[in-house]
Amino acid sequence: MAEVSGETTYVPHHKKKIAFILSAMRHFARELKSDGWQVEYVQLDDTENTGSLSGEIERAAKRHSLKSVIVTEPGEWRVLNSLTSISSRGGLSVKILGDDRFICSRNTFSSWANGRKQMRMEHFYRAMRRKTGLLMDGEKPVGGKWNFDAENRKPAKTDMSFPTPLYSDVDGITREVLGLVGERFADHFGTLSPFWFAVTRDDAEAAFDRFVEVALPSFGDYQDAMLINQKYLFHAVISLYLNIGLLDPIELCQRVERAYFDGHAPLNAAEGFIRQIIGWREYVRGLYWFRGPKYVDQNVFRHTRPLPDFFWTGNTEMACVRACVEQTREEAYAHHIQRLMVTGNFAMLAGVDPRKVHEWYLAVYADAFEWVEMPNTLGMSQFADGGLLASKPYASSGNYINRMSDYCTKCTYKVRDKSGPNACPFNYLYWDFLTRNRHVLHKNVRLAQAYRTWDRLDDERQRSTLKDAQHFLDELDKSAKGSTE
Ligand code: FAD
Ligand code: SF4
Repeated sequence: MAEVSGETTYVPHHKKKIAFILSAMRHFARELKSDGWQVEYVQLDDTENTGSLSGEIERAAKRHSLKSVIVTEPGEWRVLNSLTSISSRGGLSVKILGDDRFICSRNTFSSWANGRKQMRMEHFYRAMRRKTGLLMDGEKPVGGKWNFDAENRKPAKTDMSFPTPLYSDVDGITREVLGLVGERFADHFGTLSPFWFAVTRDDAEAAFDRFVEVALPSFGDYQDAMLINQKYLFHAVISLYLNIGLLDPIELCQRVERAYFDGHAPLNAAEGFIRQIIGWREYVRGLYWFRGPKYVDQNVFRHTRPLPDFFWTGNTEMACVRACVEQTREEAYAHHIQRLMVTGNFAMLAGVDPRKVHEWYLAVYADAFEWVEMPNTLGMSQFADGGLLASKPYASSGNYINRMSDYCTKCTYKVRDKSGPNACPFNYLYWDFLTRNRHVLHKNVRLAQAYRTWDRLDDERQRSTLKDAQHFLDELDKSAKGSTE
């Protein structure tokens, strides 16, 4: 096992993310050794460390006079290419095995996707329900419906009581890693403490147990809600554990299915959770590999604006964006709707280069690995692939954010103002985005109503809306220029 600097810096990962992964690796190595395995472990600050995975494999092969190595397929094209480059340099053969921590293999996904005009998640999800038998009553879905998403959009109230995720203790290994990360990655984004992530399988399982016990029953109802002082609401906060293999996806789903059959959780919660895991999670991974390494170049709207500085500093008057960035800086976590409908929505409306948006998401979240982050960012949140993943852009005015959160009550801008100096920027940027990209989106039936509404506005209203948007974007560009000068 090797900790290599190349993996810690190819984007400026959040400090907590680096500490989480290194500590989990060190704990796993210790566990393997105590089970009797022989483990060679190269630490980040070992003097001989080459700084790259391929370099460490080649060094280990030399030490032990190996002719071949066996590895599990990695989670990024970048790493896959570096592994295959070892074989092509000759001398050492690298055998890559499938990753059995996923339910749908890359080949199975390709067979499903090949020849399809549309690759909608819902169709894939139904196939996964049939394959796993989860929440199935013979050939039919339990409850008579495949998807209960329409019931999962309730706003939350500040006076409700919310559970917190299970906070794990920091032991000696983690303390040492925190010291290393604090020193070596001081200039990376994010705060390091408090650090409470689980770094062993046992602790990750305990965290999931707690989710099932206290949060799952309300998970469905409030899945899309956001509150300024509640970072987690009823979310599971387990993606980071799943993505590094501390938790097994199918075991989690079976556990949640049991909670439904035992009467502990309602169907909309159990189905919603299972859909995220065997549906969205498997689907985006399949798509990532199926679309190939050029997926990252997609940019259907030809957006080129640099990422605003406030994505790193949180220094903006927009209370919603500020809250999401500040929470991300503190916890390396934001839930799906914060990522999709606040930061993602803003970046798309403002015309930010999708590759820059992708690099930001890849850096700032503890659960971010390219196979899952990239399709979510480029496809779902930026619509950069022109609609391969989403049937319409997830674009919204301030109205949606106001309905689903309490951010607007703490904002300098007025969500009800459509134009003028106090108007919510999401309101005019929404129309600016739609009009600017009409040539791309005009045939999208799901946007027909929005374009009809715009066309009915009088000339003066249209003009003032676009003028406000232009002014806002000019100011954004000015501050970007100022920060690079
Ligand atoms: P919950 O809301 O409790 O959901 C349970 C689990 O379902 C999650 O842990 C996750 O494993 C899975 N899940 C839910 N939605 C998705 C989804 N759209 N794609 C894949 N799995 C899903 N998820 C990542 O794991 N890594 C990422 O780098 C990542 N980047 C994202 C970037 C953007 C722009 C967007 C819009 C979403 C991204 N997601 C990513 C998906 C989702 O936001 C996170 O999985 C979720 O917020 C994790 O928090 P949770 O464990 O509390 O999830
Ligand atoms: Fe965000 Fe607009 Fe609401 Fe302010 S008014 S919090 S910018 S949606």
